[in-house]
Amino acid sequence: MDRIGVVIETDRGELKKTNFGVITAARRSGAELYALLPDEFAASYQPLLEKYGIGKIIPIVSESGAVIFNPASRAKAVIQALYRFDIRTLFGLASPRGKDLLPRVAAELEAPLAMDCTAVAPEESTVVKSHYSGKVIAKFRLSGNYRIYGLRPNAVEAVAAPAAAEILPFQARTEPEALQFVESTERTDTGAELSEADVIISGGRGMAGPENFALLFECAGLMRGAVGASRAAVDAGWIPYAHQVGQTGQTVSPKVYIACGISGSVQHFAGMKTAGMVIAINIDPEAPIMQRCDYFAVDDLFDVVPALIENLKRLIGDR
Ligand SMILES: Cc1cc2nc3c(=O)[nH]c(=O)nc-3n(C[C@H](O)[C@H](O)[C@H](O)COP(=O)(O)OP(=O)(O)OC[C@H]3O[C@@H](n4cnc5c(N)ncnc54)[C@H](O)[C@@H]3O)c2cc1C
Repeated sequence: MDRIGVVIETDRGELKKTNFGVITAARRSGAELYALLPDEFAASYQPLLEKYGIGKIIPIVSESGAVIFNPASRAKAVIQALYRFDIRTLFGLASPRGKDLLPRVAAELEAPLAMDCTAVAPEESTVVKSHYSGKVIAKFRLSGNYRIYGLRPNAVEAVAAPAAAEILPFQARTEPEALQFVESTERTDTGAELSEADVIISGGRGMAGPENFALLFECAGLMRGAVGASRAAVDAGWIPYAHQVGQTGQTVSPKVYIACGISGSVQHFAGMKTAGMVIAINIDPEAPIMQRCDYFAVDDLFDVVPALIENLKRLIGDR
């Protein structure tokens, strides 16, 4: 039976839920699924990984414990696990971490790499990706002894298919790297990670200033969503770059994307066009986003968003 390795990402000791879409995509080939965990393993991960069909869980450790977050040594540890378990196909998230790790693995193995895929068929080695700011959807075929796929977070819906998993810890050999890990700092801004969120409410130049983003954070908190932004808002210094959606920001695929005071440039759409539903709030009925959304409100966001917050509070209070 073919084997597929899936690099599993965690965040603050919890499995990221976007892993489950990646596992679902890998499972469709009928291969045996190996979850590769370079982050510290917790027993609570096992039932969740089993729920989506993982057959083997490989916690990867180094001689001194967990593999520290150095992308160079992590890539080597993952490659050693691929060799050890004879895995030729590797899946992962095209998340910030995945974009650091997967290309290093591919380069070291001289393997073809397809990043930011919106669909994958590993049994025929093909992927679907968007190009030129989303104007072209292309299908590629990968060939080689090893094949590496990075999936856009949330591009594939997670579907459960319970299995029983065996835990096979693997100790990698680490060597001193040219790239030294010095320190990491936790993000201090509030809100869920963009790529993980089911609902994103984003603000653009129409937000008119940094202080008004508090409205979006309040609204996102009530929806258990995340706050995004256009480049205009980020360039104005109203919100950190980590929130930027678009060609030069993050690519997101939430179930619902609410654009507030965003005109809908090609570059912005490049980052959110795969959202399940797009809702635009804009005073200009001629704004490009109005032609490309599922629902719109031709209205002032400073009237609509507070009304949305009030309604959400009422709904939550009624439950
Ligand atoms: C190489 C390159 C890369 C780029 N990458 C990105 C990227 O990653 N992400 C990105 O977003 N952009 C990117 N851009 C910039 C992009 O071209 C646009 O300039 C940008 O997206 C515009 O941001 P905006 O929609 O917030 O601003 P605007 O285009 O100025 O639109 C503001 C909108 O707010 C509306 N508005 C104003 N007041 C209100 C109100 N009170 N209530 C409701 N609506 C209101 C207006 O009607 C208008 O439609 C890139 C550009 C280039 C050249």
